[in-house]
Amino acid sequence: DTLINQIAAGEVIERPASVVKELVENALDAGARRIDIDLEEGGVRLIRIRDDGSGIAPEELPLAVSRHATSKIASLDDLETVMTLGFRGEALPSIASVSRFALSSRRASDAYGSTLQVDGGRVASVAPTPHAIGTTVEVRDLFFNVPARRKFLRAERTELGHIEEWLRSLALARPDIELRVAHNGKPARRYKPDAAEPAARLLEALGEGFAEQALHIDHQGAGLRLRGWIAPPAYSRSGADQQYAYVNGRAVRDRGIAYAVKRAYQELLFHGRHPAYVLFLEIEPARVDVNVHPAKHEVRFREARLVHDFVYRTLYDALAGARA
Ligand code: ADP
Ligand code: MG
Repeated sequence: DTLINQIAAGEVIERPASVVKELVENALDAGARRIDIDLEEGGVRLIRIRDDGSGIAPEELPLAVSRHATSKIASLDDLETVMTLGFRGEALPSIASVSRFALSSRRASDAYGSTLQVDGGRVASVAPTPHAIGTTVEVRDLFFNVPARRKFLRAERTELGHIEEWLRSLALARPDIELRVAHNGKPARRYKPDAAEPAARLLEALGEGFAEQALHIDHQGAGLRLRGWIAPPAYSRSGADQQYAYVNGRAVRDRGIAYAVKRAYQELLFHGRHPAYVLFLEIEPARVDVNVHPAKHEVRFREARLVHDFVYRTLYDALAGARA
């Protein structure tokens, strides 16, 4: 089973940033309001994620690290309407099979916390431990037992950069969540929660250059809603292109959406330049398939053409209106 989990890890867990993504998504699925992320050496030496979510029952800790055990869907039909970020029950067993792993948790109804250690896939027994309400996952020495993968890890700064970039994309989607990051024992980043003013998070995540020039978008039609911001091309120091697209709150890389945005922008404004954007598309869950790839960065629309035309038309009209 450890081998199967390690193979699955190969698909979901590429680098420390993929671990952070899976663990933070679990925290969000558990209703966390605040998430603390401690990293050492770009996450290679340590990733510790603590949340104030609902917690896990002591007797369910072994289940959480076993394969295809998810508490989030009960049947295949649920896949049609899945609203949680996770649903495959693969992340924890995969991560635990390629690291020195510990899962600690306490629910509001528990008198004390419990912890479960897994060392390279070998599961120890559950032991009581003091813990605040919520869950802590500790991942040490990622890929210590898979040298072929460890070899592909990059410099500390590069791995940290990937983590920060993923967190930025999450921070944009969830201005209601407080996120704190520490690296090598020092505070590195803090996103303050402010659900009432999403533009404040925009400023925190992308800086003044984007926030000051951004055109706000909010439009509904054909059962779809597109909201967010579009701005002139980014020249950020990091070189990141500042293009963030989300479908039902999930960050995606979708060529159809990217193409529709680019076309609308280029037809009206600058030919050959790529706009920066943060765009949230909302669509009925049954009209989109999120189960295309284990890491879930991709989606498949049942009506790809309709989605493209809606995004294109919405942005074209908004940009044309702003220019007039
Ligand atoms: P999935 O998210 O696809 O269900 P995971 O392997 O990521 O699968 O997690 C397995 C299970 O462990 C989840 O279904 C959930 O019940 C539990 N779990 C994991 N992380 C947390 C957390 N931070 N808080 C509460 N429950 C959690
Ligand atoms: Mg998960």
